[in-house]
Amino acid sequence: MGKRRIHILALGGTIATRPDASGVMQMGAGADDLVKAVPLLGELAEIEAETVSRVGSHSLGFDQIHALAAKIKASTADGFVVTQGTDTLEETSFLLDLLVERDVPVIVTAAMRNPALTSPDGPGNLLAAVRVACDPWIRAHARELGVLAVMLDEVYAAADAIKAHPTRLNAFAAPQTGPLAALVEDRVVPLGKPVRDAMTATRRALGTVSGERQPVALLWMGLDEPGALVEAILASSDRLGYRGAVIGAMGGGHVPERVAALAGKLAQAMPVVVAARAGGGPLLRHTYGGPASEIELLKAGLTWGGRLHPLKARVLLETCLRAGLDRAVIAGVFAAWG
Ligand code: ASP
Repeated sequence: MGKRRIHILALGGTIATRPDASGVMQMGAGADDLVKAVPLLGELAEIEAETVSRVGSHSLGFDQIHALAAKIKASTADGFVVTQGTDTLEETSFLLDLLVERDVPVIVTAAMRNPALTSPDGPGNLLAAVRVACDPWIRAHARELGVLAVMLDEVYAAADAIKAHPTRLNAFAAPQTGPLAALVEDRVVPLGKPVRDAMTATRRALGTVSGERQPVALLWMGLDEPGALVEAILASSDRLGYRGAVIGAMGGGHVPERVAALAGKLAQAMPVVVAARAGGGPLLRHTYGGPASEIELLKAGLTWGGRLHPLKARVLLETCLRAGLDRAVIAGVFAAWG
């Protein structure tokens, strides 16, 4: 068999930075530059390089990822590697997974150490991502694996990958499940397959997603949170522009008492999803009683985010709202996540 045609789509991020005259890193490199820096890529695959943007991933938007998904859906390549910044990779890869269902690998990678530092990880991560895209086991199970994140010789499911450290080289992890595969020497070693029932049910409910951006507030709970932001949303005639909210809740689905009453009111105005601020993981449903317990929040009409990390729950809620799903369907979508 000839070489696989792998389409590299570069969005920007640390992997694509260059030092300016003062030594500060600026966006600059395009897809061709990234490919040129890793000559070995040409031995693994036939590479098509496309520069989509040159922005930090903190400046990406939902619309840009929808446009990227459309590009991937329209391309006849044998696999895709998206390079971007690490800051939002856990969100963009999950959004791509919601939008793109292909029989070929779709992989997102990035770099923690910039090209001006000793031992930058960008070239190695790009090589690893292309190796994963060409690997027979990954290719045979591409649809079951969904969108993958490849960082520091580990392969993660997009639904599970999180950026767990702001600066370290080994910043990525999948705390709930672990990696799906590891790279060693020139091999990809399979370790497991993700449970995709929730993703399958979600995609079925979403259908083909089009529509306008739907701002979703992320309300992170902390000790003694007074709930003033929830009050401000409730007091505003257009809800400050928000169409939904995600609460990063304490423990198994709890908020401070004062917030519980306000969150119930907010849930009458818009879908409010509860996800674990501990970093995702299934929430409780019927263990604790009392005014700010999971039992009362569920009774008040809040939607349970299942095992999703609050950032991923926010991506999913935006996508549901954009797709025009009604409240009952949105609740059903999240229920599938545990
Ligand atoms: N701020 C950068 C970005 O997300 C950080 C990185 O790439 O690691 O684009």
